[in-house]
Amino acid sequence: MAVDRGRIVALDKQRVWHPYTAMDQYRSKVDPLVIVEARGSTLVDADGREYLDANASWWTSTLGHNHPRLVGALREQSEALCHTALAGIAHPKAAELAEALCGVAPAGLEHVFFSDNGSTAVEVGMKLALQYWAQNGRPERTRFAALEGAFHGETLGVTALGGVEVFRAPFASVLLDCARVASPGDPSLSLERAVAELEQALREGADTLAAVVLEPMVQGAAGMRTYDAAYLRRARELCDEHDVFLICDEVFAGYGRSGRMWASEHAGIAPDVLCTAKGFSGGMLPMAATVTTPRIFDGFLGGADRAFYYGHTFCGNPLGAAVALEVLRVFEEEDVLQRVQPKAQRIAAAFASLAELPQVERSRSLGMVGALDLAGDAGYLADAGWRVYEDARRRGAYLRPLGNVVYVTPALTIPDADLDRLLAIVGESVASLGPAR
Ligand SMILES: *Cc1c(COP(=O)(O)O)cnc(C)c1O
Repeated sequence: MAVDRGRIVALDKQRVWHPYTAMDQYRSKVDPLVIVEARGSTLVDADGREYLDANASWWTSTLGHNHPRLVGALREQSEALCHTALAGIAHPKAAELAEALCGVAPAGLEHVFFSDNGSTAVEVGMKLALQYWAQNGRPERTRFAALEGAFHGETLGVTALGGVEVFRAPFASVLLDCARVASPGDPSLSLERAVAELEQALREGADTLAAVVLEPMVQGAAGMRTYDAAYLRRARELCDEHDVFLICDEVFAGYGRSGRMWASEHAGIAPDVLCTAKGFSGGMLPMAATVTTPRIFDGFLGGADRAFYYGHTFCGNPLGAAVALEVLRVFEEEDVLQRVQPKAQRIAAAFASLAELPQVERSRSLGMVGALDLAGDAGYLADAGWRVYEDARRRGAYLRPLGNVVYVTPALTIPDADLDRLLAIVGESVASLGPAR
C-alpha cells in the first residue's frame, strides 16, 4: 500500500493534536514515525522500514500486533453484531467474557463492570467505593489514598489519584481530596519508611478514606518503578484492619506483564476492586473491566435508588468482548504465561548488565518489564531519553522513554531472536550517549 508520507505528515501537523505532546516543538522539530502496518513485534513505516516495538504499542499488544486469532475473532464478530447497548440487554460475548475473567481473577472477585479504557476502569472503582460507603453507613468516607508517582489515567476523577506532577498540576485546584503517601518504588526511600507512611495515612484517615488505590508491584508511568511484594501484603492487611477498600489498578501490570497473570499474585493478595484494560483486549480495541466482590455488588441492591447509575455507550461492546474473550483463550491454549518465564529471564539478565554502563544510574526488571534510569538529569521532561529514542530508531527499534527512564515492555510473545536484538539495541543506544556527564 503506497502512502504519500509527506502529505500525511503535513495533514497531521496541521490538524492532529497529539497526546502528551508539546505541539510547537512537535511541529517545528519532530519527524514523526508514520506507521502503516504492524505484525507480531514489528512496526512498519510508510517507507517500508521495520522497527521492533519495544513497548508493545503503549503497553497493550501483549500477544503481538495482529495476532491471527484475535483478528479472526474480530472479523467473525463484526459479521454478527458490532454494537448493542448493555443497559438491560445481554449478549453472548459479554456474558462469556465476564465468566472467563472471573475464572482467572484473584479469588473473591465475582462481578464485572465493563467500560472502555484504563482511566474509566479506575474511575468506576472510585465511584463504586464512594457510592458503596455513602449508602452503606459510612458517608464521610469520600477520600482516597494513592502513591507518589502514581498514574491511574486521565479523567478528572482519576487525575486526583495521580502523583506525576506534569499530569496533575494544571488541574490541582479542582481535584478530589487524596492522601498522598511515599512510593515503595522510590529508590531513595526504604521499604519500612513507605510502609510507615501508609500505616499513618490509614490510622489517621480511616474514617474518611473510601479506598487505597495502587498499581501493584510496578508503577508504570512513574518510570517503571518496581517494588517489593511485602508492601502489597501490608497494604492488604492495613485495609482489612481499617475496613477500607483496596483497589488494584492492573491496567498496566496485569495480563502477564509482571510475569504472572496479575501483579497482585506476587503478593498472594486479592483486592476488593481490580481494574484491567490495555492487555485485556490485546491492544486491538478500547476495552476495560472493573472486577469486584459480592460485598460491593450487594451494597448496590435493595432498591432502585441504590443502583449504580453509571455507564458508557460502548460498555462491553461485542467487538471488544469477542477479542478480549479470545485473548484469554490464547493465554490458556498457547501457554503464554509459561513461555514468558525464559524471556523474562533474558530481560532481567540484560538489564542487570546494562547497570554497569557509565551512562546508567540503576536498572530493574519484573517479568516482561526491563528499565534503567539514565545518569544525570531526571524527570518526565528530561531529554537524554529522547536522544536514546532517536538512536534506537536509526537502529530499528521503537523505544519511547519516560523522561530519563529507558525501558522495554515488549509483547509477551516476542520471539527470542527479536528480543535479543531489541536488548542489544537498548545497550548500543544508551552507550551512544557518550561519556556520562
Ligand atoms: C495506561 C494506564 C491507565 C489509563 O489507561 P487509558 O486506557 O490510557 O485510559 C490507568 N492505569 C495505569 C496503571 C495505566 O498504565
